[in-house]
Amino acid sequence: MGINVAIDGPAGAGKSTIAKLVAKKMGYIYVDTGAMYRALAIHFLNKGISPEDEEAIILAVKGADVKIRYEAGVQQVYLNGENVTERLRDEAVGNMASASSAIPRVREKLLMLQKDLAKQFDVVMDGRDIGTCILPDAEVKIYLTASVKTRAKRRYDELAAKGIECDFAAIEKDIEERDRRDMTRETAPLKQAEDAVLVDSSDMTIEEVTEKITALCRDRRER
Ligand code: C5P
Repeated sequence: MGINVAIDGPAGAGKSTIAKLVAKKMGYIYVDTGAMYRALAIHFLNKGISPEDEEAIILAVKGADVKIRYEAGVQQVYLNGENVTERLRDEAVGNMASASSAIPRVREKLLMLQKDLAKQFDVVMDGRDIGTCILPDAEVKIYLTASVKTRAKRRYDELAAKGIECDFAAIEKDIEERDRRDMTRETAPLKQAEDAVLVDSSDMTIEEVTEKITALCRDRRER
């Protein structure tokens, strides 16, 4: 029998990289819940709504249908029948997702989709409230974090590798602002679940973090 693995943590902690690798090693399905919030964000942006317009977001959320499919093992996100996977990482989409995900109606929209996937498959699911709200009974819970400096440096390097010019201080500020929003919102704030294992990846390599989490999964599965 398999298990469900919840990985929560702040932006830029490396959750998706690590979750993908752990899922591959364990033969589980990787579920990126941030991508679902981002798909809804695309819906709001398509309608010309601004991130501050809570009323318009609440009205628009009814008309959004987010579906997840796995094609060649890779998560594809569909918004009202259109594959929007390529647009998910756009800066504007991230900003809209960060603001709109604080609205309870937006979170409700994705709750069952996330719970159903975990019922159907053995998953490694990453997000902000997976261990605390979505999968409180997950067999393995990880709170993956890293210092703001480390996370900003990773983001800077990622953008630089793509040839995108950027300002380190601005990235750092943006990360702090996203942390603040995620941690202080009323509904499903980002926090470490009581039974989650804290992993600080500031001074660890990707391989070390993956190995640590995979070992916890194997341990739990064999019990
Ligand atoms: O993880 P990612 O940056 O793709 O998530 C996009 C946004 O969605 C985050 O800024 C966060 O506010 C929100 N989110 C959330 N709950 C989740 C996953 C993401 O609120 N489970």
